[in-house]
Amino acid sequence: MGQSKRRIVVVSDLDGTLLDHDNYRFEEVLPTLDRMKDLGLELVINTSKTKSEWLVLQKELAISGPFIVENGSALYHQEGVNIYGSPRHEVLQVLDYYRGDFLFKGFHEAHLEEIIEWTGLGRAAALRAACREYSEPLVWMDCATKEKEFCRLIREHGMRTHRGGRFLHVLGDTDKGKPLSFFKNDVILIALGDRPNDLEMLREAQIGVIVASSDGYFLEAKEPFMRTSQTGPRGWVEAMSHLLNQIESQRLSISSYV
Ligand SMILES: [Mg+2]
Repeated sequence: MGQSKRRIVVVSDLDGTLLDHDNYRFEEVLPTLDRMKDLGLELVINTSKTKSEWLVLQKELAISGPFIVENGSALYHQEGVNIYGSPRHEVLQVLDYYRGDFLFKGFHEAHLEEIIEWTGLGRAAALRAACREYSEPLVWMDCATKEKEFCRLIREHGMRTHRGGRFLHVLGDTDKGKPLSFFKNDVILIALGDRPNDLEMLREAQIGVIVASSDGYFLEAKEPFMRTSQTGPRGWVEAMSHLLNQIESQRLSISSYV
């Protein structure tokens, strides 16, 4: 049996990868998602978003299947949920401890109007973004040196930080790569992402794809990941079309990407 006959799972970041970073649009990926389904590939979304946010998008994209939320904190699948992170109240306790030493503002202490302004989301979507279970996004208002110090202190509490496109996320001891252990070894994993918090996920996959960013940001990586020339959802389509062509013609070569 050729490699292309093995079960293939595509794990994808959302913002800046499957969704446009600025306007959250995704129409251009829909034909490629249909083609993936026709070829029997499974899609797992791996996002910093909340479960509430994903459940709405899931309907719009007509995607079913497992999903990972809040930067690797929880994996929802047919049989239930696997937790890899910490409950949000534990994260907030640690943040409270450092409130006087650093300037930041978290979602839990912001008015809905502020969250709307920060995210560019509408009212209902902003409410879903605020409905967090395992992590806290912060708007960082202190200097970069203090951010570094803050991140070091958070690690000392056995928690982690991830610098996302818009926010500094504080969460339990997990990352977007950890939940991928759930998928069995006989699966070929293809992962696509655009930011540093996606690197652990790309490293867990046999084929990792860095989707170029529309703001010119270049994600450094020592591994020979595939890189798209187009940005955001167009880059996602570019990479997946290339890989789907290979799968269709039974020419998918894993060794060229690991
Ligand atoms: Mg992203």
